[in-house]
Amino acid sequence: MSSNVEKLLVIQDRDRKIRRLEQEIKDLPKRKQLIEAQLDAFRKAHDEAEDAIRKKSLEQKDLEAQIEQRQERIRKFRQQQFEVKNNDDYRAFEHQIATLNQEISDVEDRDLVLMEEIEGLQKIRDEKLASLKDEEKVVAGELELFQQRSDNIARELEEVQQNRAELARDVDPTWLQRYDRIFQHVGDYALVEVENNTCGGCHMKLPPQAAHDARRLDDMTLCMYCGRLLYYIP
Ligand SMILES: [Zn+2]
Repeated sequence: MSSNVEKLLVIQDRDRKIRRLEQEIKDLPKRKQLIEAQLDAFRKAHDEAEDAIRKKSLEQKDLEAQIEQRQERIRKFRQQQFEVKNNDDYRAFEHQIATLNQEISDVEDRDLVLMEEIEGLQKIRDEKLASLKDEEKVVAGELELFQQRSDNIARELEEVQQNRAELARDVDPTWLQRYDRIFQHVGDYALVEVENNTCGGCHMKLPPQAAHDARRLDDMTLCMYCGRLLYYIP
């Protein structure tokens, strides 16, 4: 039959596992966020490219409106031109129409430049979109693994907790209570080995008697400095 110390060492191993799994479960939302955040930069790059296109398209619409306005004025001038009585007036209209046509031609030139710029931006946008789609695939794969891990971890925790409960039934209640209190309190190990006459928990040098007592695995020996349970297996 195992000593209380040996039984508690197994329980301590399960408790540390439980603690690790609980921490991991607590960190899951944060980890999921981190995975999803990998897309942020790719989305931003794509959005910025779309914005740039939108801006240029608005400029383009404005140019088209400018052309239309001038064409409308030309139409009106032409009508008025029909009604004039003398050549000077006729030529004055002709001159204004020519000026407007020149302006239209200038605006059309700017429109052409703008169209080329938009084509360039569309190419960039398409590249950014392709990168985004690629990264979405990567992230989807990572999220799938993450989901599997999330499912497993809950099951694993349940199994360890069940196993721990079974093991605990086999330990002397006084030892178990003491162990539980220390484990909750210190947060790492409740049961520590004596190494070179020092406590494996707080690393203080122990009196020879305590180091010696720690060999008796069914007698409780506590570290006088940190209160942890001491054991020594030669
Ligand atoms: Zn100690």
